[in-house]
Amino acid sequence: MVQPKPGCVWFVGAGPGDPDLITVKGRGLIERAGAILFAGSLVSEAATRWAPADCVIVDSKDMTLEEMSAWLITQAARCETVVRLQTGDPGLYGALIELVQPLDAAGVPVQVVPGVSSAMASAAAAVESLTLPEVTQTVILTRMEGRTPMPEGESLQELAAHHSTLCIFLSITLMGQVTAALRAAGWSPDAPVVVVHKASWPGEEKIVRGTVDTIQALCREAKLVSQSMIIASPTLGARHWTTLAKSKLYDASFTHRFRQASVPASQLTLDTP
Ligand code: SAH
Repeated sequence: MVQPKPGCVWFVGAGPGDPDLITVKGRGLIERAGAILFAGSLVSEAATRWAPADCVIVDSKDMTLEEMSAWLITQAARCETVVRLQTGDPGLYGALIELVQPLDAAGVPVQVVPGVSSAMASAAAAVESLTLPEVTQTVILTRMEGRTPMPEGESLQELAAHHSTLCIFLSITLMGQVTAALRAAGWSPDAPVVVVHKASWPGEEKIVRGTVDTIQALCREAKLVSQSMIIASPTLGARHWTTLAKSKLYDASFTHRFRQASVPASQLTLDTP
């Protein structure tokens, strides 16, 4: 691992909940951190279990952005490795840039370590693929408009009009609006939707499967009001399909950079699948 300069603040993705889903690099940084600021409401405290005994560990849940950046700057003056531990990946709905700017202004070096996003962990929990050949090759990570307004052209209805995979963050309390947007974009009432609550959290994960028409009531029944990922996708349930277009990558008639076709093919040879 590249040695950081003294007093670097590392924004580390802690992963979606299961402490084992942090990266090896993220764990290594925690093991040598002098100070850790973690997002208490979302990141399992277990993620701090590898910190050295003399590490200063603070939960940021009651702090303002200004208090957080001031704390990080103070700690960076005191110790070589400061970790800001964030849920999932730091670059998704994580206030990363708001925290980086004051550090830049203070001349504190910053590095980011990616994490397993809850979008990926939710798909994994449900044994779903977010892309499938000839079904959809596109994933949209988005949210319903809440207190944060959506930029023009990014309403859920407009995004849903692509009929690609939608991973919808921060929206479990707005399920009625989510399904209304899907209907307005032409999704069938029977189109499958899966909601994963606390994906990967040991003993706490819940998976609710339904359709555009039923998912709101099912989530209410399951009392899901937070930390849930809504996935709407034409790929859902593909595990049980009997007809499936196979990926070209593993097709016996397809030649690519790492394998010659074992049967004659009409396809062109491509570098990448
Ligand atoms: N940076 C995070 C997202 C933070 S925004 C990431 O990459 O995952 C918080 C939202 O993420 C929640 O409202 C919920 O939609 C989703 N989320 C976070 N952890 C989750 C988990 N373990 N399971 C399901 N959804 C989760």
